[in-house]
Amino acid sequence: MSVNIDWNNLGFDYMQLPYRYVAHWKDGAWDEGKLSTDPNLTMNEGSPILHYGQGAFEGMKAYRTKSGKIQLFRPDQNAHRLHNSADKLLMPPFPEDRFIDAVKQVVAANHEYVPPYGTGATLYLRPILIGVGPNIGVAPAKEYIFDVFAMPVGPYFKGGMVPTKFIVADQFDRAAHYGTGQSKVGGNYAASLQAGKFAHEHGYGDAIYLDPIEHKYIEEVGSANFFGISKDGKTLKTPKSPSILPSITKYSILALAHDRFGMTTEETKIAITDLDQFGEAGACGTAAVITPIASITYEDHEHVFYSETKVGPYTQKLYDELTGIQFGDVPAPEGWVVDVPFN
Ligand SMILES: *Cc1c(COP(=O)(O)O)cnc(C)c1O
Repeated sequence: MSVNIDWNNLGFDYMQLPYRYVAHWKDGAWDEGKLSTDPNLTMNEGSPILHYGQGAFEGMKAYRTKSGKIQLFRPDQNAHRLHNSADKLLMPPFPEDRFIDAVKQVVAANHEYVPPYGTGATLYLRPILIGVGPNIGVAPAKEYIFDVFAMPVGPYFKGGMVPTKFIVADQFDRAAHYGTGQSKVGGNYAASLQAGKFAHEHGYGDAIYLDPIEHKYIEEVGSANFFGISKDGKTLKTPKSPSILPSITKYSILALAHDRFGMTTEETKIAITDLDQFGEAGACGTAAVITPIASITYEDHEHVFYSETKVGPYTQKLYDELTGIQFGDVPAPEGWVVDVPFN
């Protein structure tokens, strides 16, 4: 590789790469789209994304395998979720096949920036779909931009998984049941900044959100989904609610737990007062991968799961299987990994 990057010391920071993909929607149609070397988007000051938050995004990664190939993990799921987010905010969806093609083009054009196998680092991809153009009233935009940019990022945990402590931020809601909680949109993140600040200031990894109706059931762990594993390791549960973002990592873990480890899996309400049913718990997402939850603090009580410092065996097993598939060391279920040709 010819680029000069310290692959072993990457964090999660913006880095300007040579190429990104940009397409424009106007007069009822997407243009042909193309790779661009300009990292700046130009838009009118009246753009609805700037005032009214009409925009959605995705987060996904490209992985370098042992043999030097590059692969994506379930990009069809990201394409589909962005379509759903677009529908929710009355934006024209970017065609799902073109989404996957655009992501492949960005990875291939920047292939020297896909970190080497064995570093745990990956190429993080950020597709965005935003409403632009001259507007002032609250209404859907008349023009849109779809952009996919990328940057190498380090592993979430440098020296292997580390259990993390979380706190229930009961005084904040992230999203409403019939609002935008299930859509990957910026407004949910703007609404999460105070809770995140509260958690960090008190020494926790992030905030846990409870359901917005009763403040009783677990919704999300920061910007990741929650899962809990029964003490006998036979059952894996994740919360069910209309305001949870449907994590692709979560659905992958549910599938692996069931299909490969013979576990019973269930999406169900999980009361914050019923954590004793679990021997292990974790947070999952593209960025967090699988983060073991050391403990959850709620109303001045700290509930410790497996251990404050050690990773539980079932969590470890799921992590090894998931990351093994992502990096190409473990055979993937049909259609889960997609090769990115480059030269
Ligand atoms: C993106 C996201 C997740 C994780 O989803 P993945 O598809 O697994 O990356 C979880 N919660 C929220 C709020 C998110 O925005």
